This record gives sequence, structure tokens and C-alpha cells, in this order.
Amino acid sequence: MSIEVENLVKRFDGFTALDGVSLEIREGELVALLGPSGSGKTTLLRIIAGLEFPDTGAILMDGIDASTRHVGARNVGFVFQHYALFRHMTVFENVAFGLRVKPRRLRPAEAEIRARVDRLLDLVQLEGMAKRYPSQLSGGQRQRVALARALAIEPRVLLLDEPFGALDAKVRKDLRRWLRRLHDEMGLTSVFVTHDQEEALELADRVVVMSQGRIEQVGTPEEIYDRPATPFVYEFLGHVNRLPCTVARGRARVWHQEFGLEETAPVEQIGRGLAYVRPEDIEIAVRAPGEEGTRARVLHLSLLGPIVRVELAVPGLADPVEAEIPRARQRELDLRVGQEVLVRARAAKVFTEAA
Ligand code: ADP
Ligand code: MG
Repeated sequence: MSIEVENLVKRFDGFTALDGVSLEIREGELVALLGPSGSGKTTLLRIIAGLEFPDTGAILMDGIDASTRHVGARNVGFVFQHYALFRHMTVFENVAFGLRVKPRRLRPAEAEIRARVDRLLDLVQLEGMAKRYPSQLSGGQRQRVALARALAIEPRVLLLDEPFGALDAKVRKDLRRWLRRLHDEMGLTSVFVTHDQEEALELADRVVVMSQGRIEQVGTPEEIYDRPATPFVYEFLGHVNRLPCTVARGRARVWHQEFGLEETAPVEQIGRGLAYVRPEDIEIAVRAPGEEGTRARVLHLSLLGPIVRVELAVPGLADPVEAEIPRARQRELDLRVGQEVLVRARAAKVFTEAA
């Protein structure tokens, strides 16, 4: 089912939680809503679900205004971070719940309910657990029950609000891949809320980055990561060095290098900017005697598995510059704290300061 979100505004007691949000979700897509806490992700998801109503704007599902259908008829399943399973019900009854509460004319026969729940428990790899109670399951198993429960009504749209947020890192990673497979196999259209950029980039077809009730950028994981549209998106995706630079005639001078500006600044503008350079785009070289370039001194080295993080002091910069180099590269360079090196930016995006 396609979902069109048209210019939603939602206020709570004068506080603007959504400030003109528009978005098109295509049939079969898995879209991640990514943003810090308070950016409006849950509010947007709840409005799509029909659990909340916008002050202005509309949701169209397959082109039809969703406000004309009541929640039960929207064909939507949802899973929340703390999806309270019914503690007094077995796994089987939890999954069957959504079918049992259907109006009689829509409710499947008992044999059909049993068959469907068994199939779902197979699908979420909980076969054999039907008679257990939630308290007898691990966190990851409980979230799979919550998913099976959401899927029991055979929704066309699956909405998930930080469904793995409470689980530990290893379980999260497994469930992520598994969710992606489930989404594809069942031909769902899914919207997935997370504040974890890695989760969004790994899982989603497209990522919607939100901040303060607005959409900062919508794009594929590659677009979002390779071409962040705003300083906010850059900073939200992980650590980034911000290097003050001068801008003249459409070029920015960063250290001993020049970078072209995109369409962000008028060509004739002269002024100051900030060059955003990711740690993995800082190149370090051992300085040969007499060699020119931007000098830096190694302040600190830390080993992060296959990557080594190098903190560098660069003359004229108040903050240390952070570089990340592959472990294999460090074996060649053999950097030591206190050593003087040369640095280059392999890539930079320059945001000019508003004149
Ligand atoms: P997120 O899910 O991105 O953390 P939310 O959509 O939950 O953000 O909330 C966005 C903002 O709206 C927050 O500042 C939150 O406090 C406020 N908000 C959300 N729901 C309500 C509510 N029912 N009443 C008052 N304020 C709310
Ligand atoms: Mg939330």
C-alpha cells in the first residue's frame, strides 16, 4: 500500500511536534524515520496509524484519505518498543488476539486461527513456544511475538516504533536482518522508527531524517550518508570534523587544499565557511624531511577493532581533528603519540555561513 503524508502539522498545547511534514512512501518500501528524541517520529507514526489526528494535513493510503476509514479498517499492524504482551496469556493467545477481537463476520473460524498462528510462530522462529508465557521468553523472543501479533491480522502496512530499542546489540542486529527478510517475503510496506543511524542505514530502502518536527532530508542510505543535505544530517550520522575555511569565487580553501562549492553558495561570495570532513576522510602521511603540507601532531591513538582512531592537533584549530584509519594502514605508518605527520582531507562538504 502506498502512503502519502501531506503537509502535517500537529501541536500539543502550543508546542509544535510536527511542522509541515510531507512524504511519499511507495508500495513495498521499508522506510526508516531517523532522528533524535523529541523530533516527532512517534507522532508521525501514530498519525499514519490513525491513533492520533493532525491539526492540518492528510494521510492518503493507496490514494484514499485515511481519515475516512476507522482505525480497524486501515489494515495496519504496529509494534512498539515496549509492546506490552498480555502477561496472563500464552504466546499462542497473544498472537491470536487480533483475530479473536475482530467483529464476528470478519473473524476466522477457530481452525483457521490455529493454522494462522502456527504459521506465524514458524515464521518468527518460535515454533514450540506456543504454550509459554511472556515471562518465560527472552527480550528478543518477546519482540518476535509482538511482531507475529502485529502480522496476524495480515496487514499491508507495518509500523514499528523503535521495536528493538530495549534489546542488546547482538540481538538487535539479528532481528534487523530478520525483519528485512520478513518485510520482503510478505510484500509489506513498512515504516520503522529509530534513533540509531546504523540501524536505519542498514535496514531501510529510504531514510527520512527528522529534527524538531521537520524533515531534514529524505534519501537512500547511500544518498544520506554520501551527501548529507544539512549540517544537522552530517552531525547526526556520527562524528564529523568541522574545519573553518575561507571561501572565494566558488572555491573553499581547507588546509592546503581547495574544494569546489556546490550550488549552496553564490559563486562570487567571499567569506567564511565550515568544511565538514568525516574521520575516515582524513588522510595521514608520515612527513618526509622538507615536505610541505598541513602539519599535525598525534595526540592520542585508540584501537576500535579493525579501525584505529587518531586524534590530531592541527596548528590554528582549537579542537583536535579526529581521523580513522584501517588497522592495516596503522601497521604501515606505525604512528606514535607526539609524532609529527601531514594531513589531507580526502573529501569535504563546505557549508558557507549565511551572509
Ligand atoms: P520522538 O518519537 O521523535 O522522540 P515524539 O513524536 O514522541 O518524538 O514527540 C515530539 C514532541 O512532541 C516531543 O517534544 C514531545 O514531548 C511532544 N509530545 C508528543 N506527544 C505529546 C502529547 N501527547 N502531549 C504533549 N506533548 C507531546
Ligand atoms: Mg518516539
